[in-house]
Amino acid sequence: MDSINSIAIEYVKLSLAIGQHCPNYVDAYYGPKQWQDEVSKHPLPQLSSQAIALISDAESIGKLPDDNNQIRLDYLKKHLYACKVYIDILMGNTLDFYSECEALYDAKPPKYDEPHFDKILTELDALVPGSGDLATRFVNYRQSFVIHKDKLNAVFDAAITEARNRTLQYISLPENENFNVELVQDQVWTAYNWFKGNSYSLIQLNTDINIYIERAIDLAAHEGYPGHHVFNALMEKHLVIERDWVEYSIYNLFGPTSLLAEGSANYGIEVAFPWEERIAFERDVLFPIAGIDPNESELYYKVLKLMSKLAYADNMVAQRYCDKKIADNQAIELLMKYTLCTKERATQRLSFYQQNRSYVITYNFGQDLVHEYLTSKISSGSAQELWHEFTALLARPKTASMMQAEL
Ligand SMILES: [Zn+2]
Repeated sequence: MDSINSIAIEYVKLSLAIGQHCPNYVDAYYGPKQWQDEVSKHPLPQLSSQAIALISDAESIGKLPDDNNQIRLDYLKKHLYACKVYIDILMGNTLDFYSECEALYDAKPPKYDEPHFDKILTELDALVPGSGDLATRFVNYRQSFVIHKDKLNAVFDAAITEARNRTLQYISLPENENFNVELVQDQVWTAYNWFKGNSYSLIQLNTDINIYIERAIDLAAHEGYPGHHVFNALMEKHLVIERDWVEYSIYNLFGPTSLLAEGSANYGIEVAFPWEERIAFERDVLFPIAGIDPNESELYYKVLKLMSKLAYADNMVAQRYCDKKIADNQAIELLMKYTLCTKERATQRLSFYQQNRSYVITYNFGQDLVHEYLTSKISSGSAQELWHEFTALLARPKTASMMQAEL
């Protein structure tokens, strides 16, 4: 075990060193403060050699008799490979989009193109009221579901209280766990969870763009309960504190943990709010707080459910854009058509692609994979069992190929 521990320590230090070359790389760190204070900016080729040496050390360990340690080692190896690839990317050796998905996120998402999405657009076309082309009609229709800025705090508070209560029924969290919500502007994302350690998160909401009513539950569950905040708090409790597995005290954004982080945060929305319960809660509680007509909820959620089938269109556009197959204006047009958004929102999404590239697949493919993995684990279909397996996965994370190997 000593050898895994020492590789884990070096992995954390290497990750901190990569972070010196890329400000978004280290998403969360709450390991020894001294390591963070001591880190200096080493040249990338030197970091690359360190990564190669650590990979070779990890590979020389071989098979372990204990399952827990084997999962730990496998998980650590995948992260070391991703570190090596990310250093290469920083040195200018970019990969094509789908090779990057595999190298950084250990993931092979399915690929779809226009004909797949056109069928869904045809169904939506029949459902969305109003006049004009579908994207314009949808954008106009959606206007009546925007949460007014003065109502944002009240709606979000109600959503997060409900998400937290539902989660605490099934997951026991550290007593001191808590978070703060801050409204911010000028970001490429809509919301972000910054986990600070000691079971505390800062959740930021970007108010630059319209926040629609359904986003309250999405964000409360995704960023908070049982999403990022809970995932980080569980890893800290079970792995960092109880087992002293220091590698879990750092979270590298461009690495395999992100697929589970975003995938479980997205799937967690459905775990905490099964569809019919969600619609009832939104209609009866959130719509009135936001001052939106609850009678409009039925059709709206029908449209949204259908729209969720367009999720992979994001990957299609991101792939073509990152692989330089299409220019900015073509990417914006495709996004407006296939994700039914405004030009402003499409432009914001391009900034997200520039900053995060193939990270986009962690949301949709991550969600589908976590769903598939958990479905394969449960036999009764009871909420209790689903929450149990969901919690087990968050407390002992697996990468995409590790989950797929069990399907
Ligand atoms: Zn997220």
